[in-house]
Amino acid sequence: MRSVEPEIRLVARPQLDYDMIAEYLAEVGGSSWLERLDRDQLDNDAQNLAEFAGKMCYRSWEPGLNPNVKRVRDDQVVYLQNILAQAHGSVLEHISFTFVLHNVSRVFTHELVRHRPGTAVSQESLRFVRLADIPFWFPEWAREDEELMKRAGSLLNEMEAFQRWMAEHFGLDDDGVKMHEKKHKTSFMRRFAPDGVATGIVWTANVRTLRHTIEARTDPGAEEEIRLVFNKIGELMRAEAPALFGDYEVTADGAWVPGWRKV
Ligand SMILES: Cc1cc2nc3c(=O)[nH]c(=O)nc-3n(C[C@H](O)[C@H](O)[C@H](O)COP(=O)(O)OP(=O)(O)OC[C@H]3O[C@@H](n4cnc5c(N)ncnc54)[C@H](O)[C@@H]3O)c2cc1C
Repeated sequence: MRSVEPEIRLVARPQLDYDMIAEYLAEVGGSSWLERLDRDQLDNDAQNLAEFAGKMCYRSWEPGLNPNVKRVRDDQVVYLQNILAQAHGSVLEHISFTFVLHNVSRVFTHELVRHRPGTAVSQESLRFVRLADIPFWFPEWAREDEELMKRAGSLLNEMEAFQRWMAEHFGLDDDGVKMHEKKHKTSFMRRFAPDGVATGIVWTANVRTLRHTIEARTDPGAEEEIRLVFNKIGELMRAEAPALFGDYEVTADGAWVPGWRKV
């Protein structure tokens, strides 16, 4: 048994092509919006993309471009707060972030993939990847329980030994064993791993989905591993795009409560 901790890494974020945006804005008469780039008022690609998509909707790059629009919001934080307050959620769907979640359990991944709209998932295949040991996360309260740890350790060690015995028994490392046969047996063998076995998943979500999942999965009613992971995701996102995640209040019991719900 190998004791591990869930690890959360943000590996991809939006990057804008300002030359293409400039071309488009020149076409529609909104070039003044990009002048804010030179004044360092547009220094966050994720937030800029949200503002760009929102302003495109009403042609509100500057007053008068659309005769119906007499004033525009130039302050990005104020502008995006209004998007959140108005629940203009489609704007947020353009902005996606990708995480690699390492050493998370199958308990966790099973719950994560229930969130469907606005996500993409690639999960480590335990049909292909043979378990040589059983990495496992223990919460702190469990680690403090000596008897529990002793019994859990011996159970997991026995499961690991069984994995190794099966691999040998099936001759998976013998010369000439075809991948098809390895997959067949590896898939059978994973059935003897616990739900808590630590594995990995690449998870992409857009901002609309992130806002919803951070709230749902840090709720005190949610499972403790997913709460731990989404607390970290919340912290990463708040640092990454404060104007899109700065409205959350984190309560004493760790729930992320948004200022604007159900965007
Ligand atoms: C505390 C907790 C306990 C849970 N317990 C269980 C359990 O015991 N058993 C179990 O099976 N699941 C359980 N779940 C999972 C839960 O039922 C949801 O499937 C999961 O949380 C996904 O969230 P979501 O429904 O908001 O959907 P998401 O996929 O995150 O979608 C976001 C939003 O889009 C809308 N939406 C998405 N799909 C549809 C659709 N098909 N039709 C209409 N609107 C849609 C909804 O407004 C939804 O809230 C639990 C979840 C939590 C947080």
